[in-house]
This record gives sequence, structure tokens and C-alpha cells, in this order.
Amino acid sequence: MQVAIDGPAAAGKSTVARLVAEKLGGIYINTGDMYRALTWIALQRGGDPETAPERVAAMLDNLRLDYRLADGAAPVLALDGHPLEPAAVRSPAVAAKVSFTARIPPVRDWLVERQRRAGQLGLVVMEGRDIGTVVFPGAKYKFFIEASPMVRARRRLAQPGEVVDSATLESVAAEIARRDELDRNRRISPLRPAADAEVIDTDHLTAAEVADLIVERVYVGESQCPSHTRHI
Ligand code: C5P
Repeated sequence: MQVAIDGPAAAGKSTVARLVAEKLGGIYINTGDMYRALTWIALQRGGDPETAPERVAAMLDNLRLDYRLADGAAPVLALDGHPLEPAAVRSPAVAAKVSFTARIPPVRDWLVERQRRAGQLGLVVMEGRDIGTVVFPGAKYKFFIEASPMVRARRRLAQPGEVVDSATLESVAAEIARRDELDRNRRISPLRPAADAEVIDTDHLTAAEVADLIVERVYVGESQCPSHTRHI
């Protein structure tokens, strides 16, 4: 069973999805980290996703990206068997280029295949941009988390390590707007809510309140479907 959580940058998806997975006893999967991991390794190898997308695509043939499941912990993303450093994957340098990686068609095919495989692990709470529209269009539970640009900039600024030290509210808002623009207007799998997703405006809600709302929807949905209740 999959719970799909999509939305723009810095809307609070990760915190919410992690809480939902905890409350439902499911597995939390952050697909943004997969695009970030590929961006990081591309930059390490001198392939800029913006100017040399073909080099990024060529890299995929010899790359192994997988999740290591540890008891009671969120799965750890590993590249060629080496667990990835969260600080590297979430660095400002990677954030500046990740949307260019995400618009390379072979990259999306490669990752979507792996995301669908991860969706078979059990009760999976997966967050990203295209989970409800492309990765799991048949998911029973789909949410699209929104927040206004300034609220998102404030949330991002409050997260240590994700922005440069000199960042201001305005510079963070501009970076988020730039990434949204690229994500919403790309040709394949653009950022948008699935037609059957519930859109949640989180400007005046805490992450815990949003998570409770989603968990409630799942409980209500499953109580009407007895064959699934054993998963929760
Ligand atoms: O969620 P996060 O902000 O870490 O995602 C980083 C970037 O990865 C997004 O801006 C987007 O370009 C890309 N992405 C995507 N599809 C997903 C998840 C992330 O295109 N399912």
C-alpha cells in the first residue's frame, strides 16, 4: 500500500511524511534524495546536469542506487553500496543543480523504476513531486502539500545545513521559486497535484497537524476496506 505525498520545495513534505510513516508503522521514502544523490555524484565526477545532461545519463549504466533497510530506522540511501552523507546530498551546491538532473528523461525512467520497486516493500509513505501522478497513479491515498512562498522560505531557512550561511529570507525565497519554476514547467512529470489528490494548504498548520490529518484519512479509508486493515 502506498501513501503518496507531493508538493513544492520546502513545503514541509519530509517532516510530514516521516511522521505519517511513524504513525502508520510504514516505511518512509524520500525521492528528492534520490535526485539529489544522482546530482551529487554527477558533480563529483565533473558532469554538470545543467550543461552536460548526456554525461549524467551515461553515468546510470554503471551505478547502483538502493535502500538499506535497518530495523526501526528510516531506510538509508546507498550508492554503489556506500551510504550517502545527508550533508552532501542536502548541500546548497546540490540544491542549485538538482532540478536540472530531474528533467533528464533517462534519469526519471531509472529512478521511477527503483521507486516502484521500493513501493512493494510494504506500507510505504513516499514523498516527491510526481508520486501521485506518475510513480503510483493508482495509489489510494494521495496528498499535495502546499504553502505560500514566504512560509516555505521561512521553513527552509530554519533547517540547518540546507542553505548557505549568508542566506536571507529573500535569497532563499528566490532559490525556491527558481526550483519550483523548473519543476512545474518541465516537459516530463511536471510538479502538479494528481486529479484525485487532496490538496492541503499548510500555511497555518504544524507538521504534526498535517500528519494527523493524513493518518486520519488513511484510517477512515481503511476502516471502509477491512481487507487492508491488517497492514496498519
Ligand atoms: O524534495 P526535494 O526538494 O529534496 O527534491 C529535490 C528536487 O528533486 C526537486 O526540486 C525536483 O527537481 C526533484 N524531484 C523530482 N521528482 C521527485 C522528487 C524530487 O523531480 N519525485
